[in-house]
Amino acid sequence: MQKIMTHIKQKNFLWLAALAIVVAATLALCACDKDGKRQAMSPIYDLNMQYDPAAHLISARQEVLFELPEDADCAVFHINANAFSDDNDVIDISAVKIDRKTVDFEIYGKNKTLLKIPCETSGIVDVCFEFCVRLPFENARLGYGENCAALNCFYPSLAVFDGEWRDDAYENIGDPFFCECSDFYVTLTLDSDLEVAASGEIVCSLPFEKDGKSLKTVEICAEKIRDLGIVVGNFFSVSQTLSIEGEDVDVSYFYLSDEAPLETLERAASAIETFSQTFGPYPYPSFCFAEVPLDGAGGMEYGAFATISPSSREYFLDAVTHEIAHQWWYGAVGNDQNNSAWMDEGLSEFCTYFYYRVTGDDESFSRAIRDIFLSYNDFLSVMRPVGFNAEMQRPLNSYLSNGEYVAVNYQKGALLFDHLYNLVGEKKFVAALGEYFRANKFAVATPSSLAAAFKTQGFDVSAIITSWINNKDK
Ligand SMILES: [Zn+2]
Repeated sequence: MQKIMTHIKQKNFLWLAALAIVVAATLALCACDKDGKRQAMSPIYDLNMQYDPAAHLISARQEVLFELPEDADCAVFHINANAFSDDNDVIDISAVKIDRKTVDFEIYGKNKTLLKIPCETSGIVDVCFEFCVRLPFENARLGYGENCAALNCFYPSLAVFDGEWRDDAYENIGDPFFCECSDFYVTLTLDSDLEVAASGEIVCSLPFEKDGKSLKTVEICAEKIRDLGIVVGNFFSVSQTLSIEGEDVDVSYFYLSDEAPLETLERAASAIETFSQTFGPYPYPSFCFAEVPLDGAGGMEYGAFATISPSSREYFLDAVTHEIAHQWWYGAVGNDQNNSAWMDEGLSEFCTYFYYRVTGDDESFSRAIRDIFLSYNDFLSVMRPVGFNAEMQRPLNSYLSNGEYVAVNYQKGALLFDHLYNLVGEKKFVAALGEYFRANKFAVATPSSLAAAFKTQGFDVSAIITSWINNKDK
């Protein structure tokens, strides 16, 4: 997320038939780790949804295919939609089936954002949800406003299993998302006059008439992403195709009131090219972003997609750069955002300004780092007497305020990366982050993974990272 700061290829998808083929192919091609143990397949989401803009209602049927861990006797899903109303009743799940048999399920946790299903089966599991989501009137990750609706965080999302299910409940601070890379195949039916901006590629859009209404069905394919982003509305759009190491990357920008959309698109293209040359090629075949009002934040990252909230021009363009940096740090290289938010936010914040340095604007880079330093120290001096905790490696529910979260993860996080940059020099710093990207692409990195990347360049920075992230005082 970008914080508020003081300063077809036409293809016809016969989804279910295709899924069987995909699962078989995935299993056959599943990579092995260095011990020869086969890695679990990526979860596959087959989502058939309708959006009714008059009722602000999503009706959906979603199948999730995944490999049940050997030690698991249940499956856990995040149902984050419930966090978007005080009554925690945004999602109404009418049925859950495992391998086509109806099963009982339990909704639990803070804000009723977790769902547990007992599983007596093993191997590949097919969990099917039938549900409705009524959008709140709110400029939020999930909600509708005057000209658009944000359809994010609405679907049941498989929790991460790392010996046990990671059932961290949704928090109102930070980005409470921790997901494995998954493949999404989506069929979305909605009014034909609504534009769709989304993760992945829109592989076809078919208009049709029903009950006197003009509708369309849009098919979306978004692979190797951690979470699906969709917004719909009365957007204008501009787009361009980049060539990144010989591969086409389609960049699309959907906007409502931006008076300089081509300049915004140019910033996105420049950031994708710059980070590709610096850290490694952009990890997806497309990037889509949309100008969408978002209360309390400058933007929000999703897989190969982002929303940017209207703000001052300079801040708006920095938010574009920040959310694009997240496609490397959160998107491709995942991290536990519930406990190590500094890993993606601190690095994306640093990269927002490092972009200026790489594109030849040293002054803007230096000024931004200085501003972050001053701002963080102001926060420290004012808040320390009332119990400010500067520890970086800690759960979202331990933060006293959004201000503390921003200071610790964005500002102190960016300062840690600036410290490493100054310590090892630009050439080795860039090489280390390139290695970090290469070694952890589509996986989940830890603080040790970051230290290991610097080790490949001859620097043992593990003690430095540990000292920064565990220091409660500064
Ligand atoms: Zn962010």
